[in-house]
Amino acid sequence: MGSFVTHLECARCGAMHDAGREQHLCSCGGPLLVRYDLERLKQAVGRENLAAREASLWRYREFLPVEEESAVISMGEGWTPVLPLARWGSRRGFSRLYLKDEGRNPTGTFKARGAAVGVSRARELGVREIAMPTAGNAGGAWSLYAARAGIRVHVAMPKDAPPGAVKECVIAGARVYLIDGLISDAGRFISRGISRHGWYDASTLKEPYRVEGKKTMGLELAEQFGWDLPDVVLYPCGGGVGLIGMWKAFEELEEVGWIGKRRPRLVAVQAEGCAPIVKAFQEGKAESEFFAGAHTVAGGIRVPKALGDFLVLRAIRDTGGAAVAVSDDEILTAMRELSEEEGLFICPEGAATLAGLLRLREAGLVGEDERIVLFNTGSGLKYTDLVSCDLSVLPADAQPE
Ligand SMILES: *Cc1c(COP(=O)(O)O)cnc(C)c1O
Ligand SMILES: [Zn+2]
Repeated sequence: MGSFVTHLECARCGAMHDAGREQHLCSCGGPLLVRYDLERLKQAVGRENLAAREASLWRYREFLPVEEESAVISMGEGWTPVLPLARWGSRRGFSRLYLKDEGRNPTGTFKARGAAVGVSRARELGVREIAMPTAGNAGGAWSLYAARAGIRVHVAMPKDAPPGAVKECVIAGARVYLIDGLISDAGRFISRGISRHGWYDASTLKEPYRVEGKKTMGLELAEQFGWDLPDVVLYPCGGGVGLIGMWKAFEELEEVGWIGKRRPRLVAVQAEGCAPIVKAFQEGKAESEFFAGAHTVAGGIRVPKALGDFLVLRAIRDTGGAAVAVSDDEILTAMRELSEEEGLFICPEGAATLAGLLRLREAGLVGEDERIVLFNTGSGLKYTDLVSCDLSVLPADAQPE
């Protein structure tokens, strides 16, 4: 099948790097982005070719870095539905509100996208042992995809990571290290393991291919909206890879002429207990600072300092978007509302975008007739411990009242 990759480019200093071998960060410390020969790609495929293709992110294979079909590790990830939120939306005055439901992915979160592409490319490069720190879901996804690829995995996570994700890593046979600290401490633990044992560093943005998998969320949005992108996209932002990926997707789509110049306003939603990007956005800074004492029920967005923060801030500002923080109470309320009113049991991170939308409206930053897409990044079934239920057990011969 071949690929259209030409090289890797540092997102900080612009230096070029060879994509044909294992690469991590640039010598300047910047993350590397995959660049493609989009001229040649444009000759090879048109958007009309997509309709007949498989219902997974591999329908965009020309925009992905894997060279050989045989290297692809796929479990049907991607091509998730865009569902109208008619009742929740109309009750709150929004007439064209949608949810892109990433909870349908293998492993229950959109992390499957990054893992599918990242693990496939790692396998192609001959990697034998992968290591990463994780808030939970990335570890689960990479553990399972690597298991399918026959690659060993080491994951380090905060000791209070969501239990569903911890067990996902364990059952996949990964080596799991629970750390008495935050994801940043888990990151330092993994760095020590990498210098000692030479593991392949799959930390967020420390290998170039995970973002390519997440980029497909942007490609799908464009195709699912008939190549006329929505007006606003709200995304629960942790490491920000999803936002960076979608921003990159729109850039590539414009370059091949499949969409025009217009972009959705990208909105990063964070939790009040961990809002480094929101703080930097409000202060007009180009980068965030470490957010001390990070805490929130939405574990996937508990990232006190993201390596790609400058790219997230650039994407938000370039598109005229925003960054908003919401409380854990608002998150839990939105989670319940969406189950009751729409039949969708979403994850707390996804629920944060509903709360974020109400904040945006209060601030006058969104119109009620705009086409708005909320990202539900995972299934609520991975977070059943967040649902309080106090039921008493009835005797077997009890009569319904
Ligand atoms: C990882 C994660 C996020 C944050 O994703 P980024 O793209 O890294 O910002 C949001 N929601 C869930 C459920 C996650 O697992
Ligand atoms: Zn650089």
